[in-house]
Amino acid sequence: MDCLFCKMVDRDIEPDIAYEDDHVLAFHDVNPQAPTHILIIPKKHIATLNDIEEGDLALIGRLQHTAARLARELGFAEDGYRVVMNCNDHGGQSVYHVHMHLMGGRRFTWPAG
Ligand code: C5P
Repeated sequence: MDCLFCKMVDRDIEPDIAYEDDHVLAFHDVNPQAPTHILIIPKKHIATLNDIEEGDLALIGRLQHTAARLARELGFAEDGYRVVMNCNDHGGQSVYHVHMHLMGGRRFTWPAG
């Protein structure tokens, strides 16, 4: 499968890893939009948020749980942070393997652009 993030899971491409377990991989974004910008992905290939199935619910929960734990470990949980999941063209998705952006270390504005 020609998926960039699957290649990172398989280590055909070496990510800058922030966290890994049997189900989840988290790595630093190559084009950070904040002092800390980590992508948290399921190891299972799921193309978009629209493709999440009943059996994936615990896995998706793990992404958020991992984000909160990393935020605590990296020291910005109390100040706050932003998590974003982009879906398809209008959502700004560019890599078609579900991922959660965890961004911290600065104040974010709302609404999103
Ligand atoms: O939500 P979206 O699909 O646009 O996010 C994809 C993210 O993957 C971008 O933030 C981009 O910088 C990141 N990326 C990466 N390493 C690559 C290619 C893209 O971290 N080799």
